[in-house]
Amino acid sequence: MSRRIVIVGNGPAGHRLAELLGARAPGTDVTVLGAECEPAYNRVLLPSVLAGRLTAEATYLAQHPEGRVRVRTGVSVASIDRQQRNVRTGEGVVLPYDHLVLATGAACFLPPLRGLADEEGQPAKGVVALRTLADCRLVEDRLPVRGRIAVLGGGVLGLEVARALTERGYGVEVVHGGAHAMDRQLGPAAGALLEGALDGLRVRVLAGRTATAWTGDRLALDDGSSVPADLLIVCAGVVPETSLARDAGLRVGRGVVVDEYLRTSDPRIHALGDCAEVGGEVSGLIAPAWEQAEVLAGVLTGEPRPYTGTRTITRLKVRGVDLAVIGVGEREVAGAETVVLTDPSRGQYARLSVLDSQVVGAVLLGFPDSVAAVGQLFDSGAAAPNDRLSLLMGRAVAGPAPDPGALPGQTVICRCSNVTKNDLATAWLRGAREEAELAQATRATTGCGGCRGSVREICQWLRTKHDQPDADAGRTGEEPDRPVDRLSPSHPRRDAHHDPVPELLAP
Ligand SMILES: Cc1cc2nc3c(=O)[nH]c(=O)nc-3n(C[C@H](O)[C@H](O)[C@H](O)COP(=O)(O)OP(=O)(O)OC[C@H]3O[C@@H](n4cnc5c(N)ncnc54)[C@H](O)[C@@H]3O)c2cc1C
Repeated sequence: MSRRIVIVGNGPAGHRLAELLGARAPGTDVTVLGAECEPAYNRVLLPSVLAGRLTAEATYLAQHPEGRVRVRTGVSVASIDRQQRNVRTGEGVVLPYDHLVLATGAACFLPPLRGLADEEGQPAKGVVALRTLADCRLVEDRLPVRGRIAVLGGGVLGLEVARALTERGYGVEVVHGGAHAMDRQLGPAAGALLEGALDGLRVRVLAGRTATAWTGDRLALDDGSSVPADLLIVCAGVVPETSLARDAGLRVGRGVVVDEYLRTSDPRIHALGDCAEVGGEVSGLIAPAWEQAEVLAGVLTGEPRPYTGTRTITRLKVRGVDLAVIGVGEREVAGAETVVLTDPSRGQYARLSVLDSQVVGAVLLGFPDSVAAVGQLFDSGAAAPNDRLSLLMGRAVAGPAPDPGALPGQTVICRCSNVTKNDLATAWLRGAREEAELAQATRATTGCGGCRGSVREICQWLRTKHDQPDADAGRTGEEPDRPVDRLSPSHPRRDAHHDPVPELLAP
């Protein structure tokens, strides 16, 4: 009998793991059980759906090739029997496993606010807690014709959602308990400039105010004022989905506790993505979920390597604002040297932290030309140039830009959608010859957009290489007009199932 792996959760983490197992362990019986009724999709793209820039279908992740993975959508797992090694679904179906993987993600946090939830703990009338495509449809159904919208939570997601709705013509007020917008990532100076920029885009941030009650048509605040709203969208953080693990007696902290091989306290059960707590941290970001899927695929196919963390770069997906938070962002690092550059009249702020010549963190607001170079230094760990100011001004490049032809095929170009150079080459060979077509085929550039310059360079390289097969596969000389992200070979990953097209696909 073949080995049975059951994955609970069909989000990005569960889907990617299944894809890798399907490709690398063909004899294994892989089943994914997902509570949502949709095919797997990329949650990161939901603000673009709300803005009306992407359809729901455009967020779907690639289907597994026929016969490799069994996916059951609309199926919720209700319990785990660790002795018998099986799971029971909500409908009472029992599925045995040899290895079980929890990829149950996270749920929206509903703050304990009078009137916000109904008796069953679900969002009350006029309230949507945004996490899923179904939630986006709810927002769509409830959008007032000419009414007022409030967002609770001025972190990354709350701001992205608010801006998505102002793109549709609404004015949105964001109520945020922290001292300023994105206070978890930004200090007061950058926060104030960000709020100013958002104000110009019809996103008004009311920071430092605690919401006390939702009355159905207004959000009451602790200073006695209130925000009238026909629709309230809650983006106040997430809670890792740990109930299955807890009920099964697994070790649970903030998330399901796993070691560096993503093993829970039961060696037959693993966890990854938003539900997992690794080294005391729960991530809540997509890049660690993609990377953990790679690590776990290795562990389950006899090629174990430990998960050692993910270098994260967060780009705010807000049209009209260019903000990147790299590594530790503004957090103080003992012994680090910091350079701060600010021009309030132009809404620009940059802060760079360098420790032992390496970039450990940066916040770049209104510095699109330096994001690529600073991000590349952070990714590669290469020594930062001594002229830090030039680096921040986008004048000092971090060495020559990598030649697209020389990049390994598995280099991840788009972090939001986990698209490699080879994925782009494959799409190009299947007929996607323009950047827009590559974007449509692979979803690259449709998240934060930070990879747009890289995709353009690769598209140019593919065209040159295809038209003149003997030509030097290097850069074509035409620089992207705004190099938002230079090619960075920092995240190699192995492809799951692509047809080999040898001339353009790099090893
Ligand atoms: C609107 C939005 C925008 C975002 N933007 C960004 C961004 O720009 N950058 C970034 O890094 N991150 C972003 N994130 C976070 C990112 O989407 C998550 O980190 C990522 O989705 C985690 O993937 P996951 O598979 O671990 O969990 P999830 O995506 O939460 O998927 C878990 C799945 O498991 C299912 N499930 C749970 N319990 C069960 C059960 N008992 N039985 C069966 N199925 C179950 C759930 O229904 C869900 O479908 C965003 C999130 C949202 C909501």
